[in-house]
Amino acid sequence: MSDKGNDFGFETLAIRTGHHRTAEGEQGEPIFPTSSFVFQSAAQAAARFAGTEPGNIYSRFTNPTVRNFEERLAALEGGARCVATASGMSAILSTCLGLLKSGDHIVSSRAIFGTTVLLFNNYLGKFGVTTTYVPLTDVAAWERAITPKTRLLFLETPSNPLTEVADIAALSQIAKRHNCLLVVDNCFCTPALQQPLKLGADIVVHSATKYLDGQGRCIGGAVVGSEEIVGKDVYGVLRTGGPTMSPFNAWVFLKGLETLAIRMKAHSASALELARWLEKQSAVKRVNYPGLESHPQHKLARDQQSAFGGVLSFELKGGQAEAWKLIDATKMISITANLGDAKTTITHPATTTHGRLTPEQRAEAGIGDGLVRIAVGLEDVGDIITDIERGLR
Ligand SMILES: *Cc1c(COP(=O)(O)O)cnc(C)c1O
Repeated sequence: MSDKGNDFGFETLAIRTGHHRTAEGEQGEPIFPTSSFVFQSAAQAAARFAGTEPGNIYSRFTNPTVRNFEERLAALEGGARCVATASGMSAILSTCLGLLKSGDHIVSSRAIFGTTVLLFNNYLGKFGVTTTYVPLTDVAAWERAITPKTRLLFLETPSNPLTEVADIAALSQIAKRHNCLLVVDNCFCTPALQQPLKLGADIVVHSATKYLDGQGRCIGGAVVGSEEIVGKDVYGVLRTGGPTMSPFNAWVFLKGLETLAIRMKAHSASALELARWLEKQSAVKRVNYPGLESHPQHKLARDQQSAFGGVLSFELKGGQAEAWKLIDATKMISITANLGDAKTTITHPATTTHGRLTPEQRAEAGIGDGLVRIAVGLEDVGDIITDIERGLR
């Protein structure tokens, strides 16, 4: 089964799409670890290079295993085309290089991955692309920030670590009205829980490193969207600039996609159970998780997502000392800022991911000294709760 755009369910597409079985009759998807491909004749080589005959040329921009991953992820996001990249950051970089020129402007939500902020400010800024940051959930602020130079609206939802939820459909209306493209980093939900293109977004970017892999093994990324935007503009950057996904990593991600739906359900169920338990603890001031009725955008999250994901954060009544004590008391959970792994991770945003901000910037971003973030893994949820309870006592 290799055709896209059919009526199969999500789980079937995740397991079956994109494998064009070879003459060997293999059941598992093959890895093609080859830099280049051989032509049957000089005329065929010329036709491939001219683009008049489709087919493999060179693995910087054509590799069957990478294409297998691209076709599968495109089917899951409901996009016409996917381009795989070496990392999540190179997916965002390739999108910007493909669609922006000097003088253009980006409006971005403030609460995005820290390295994305550095990319926008320090590197795109060097080439005359400017960025204005707005609060993720303030739709009017997005519209006010748009100028005649604005080309892209960029966001992540739910945000990290406060799990605020953006109204993708409303922002896509604003983007259309102002002739901009809406780019959604769908790393936290994955297409198993949220499909931004169906809500009106133009482009989805991924760090495949997180839940698409799901077991913390490889670095990779992807851009999904239309044939026109992704198939031409973004693919052109990849082909020429070369931030390519390796065939081996593509194969790991293919295997990850096969279990994506079932994993995201399990991450979400455990995170909800942990969030409800945390809300009952006297040492906890506030729990941030879109699955809780107390979450300000709970209803929007319920409409826009099929479950609430694996990431939550909570604010202790104490400050940094109490947060560090809780983190250090864990015996099983990994102390690391990574997420999207079968292994649960715990981190103190104020002194790690947001440590380079000034105290004022942190306060503005809502990152308190007592805030702890957990990316809930796939271990027994009772063991996860026991590990956190140790530090709360
Ligand atoms: C990790 C991450 C990225 C960057 O991806 P890499 O694969 O590490 O380059 C981008 N966006 C989000 C939301 C992330 O969590």
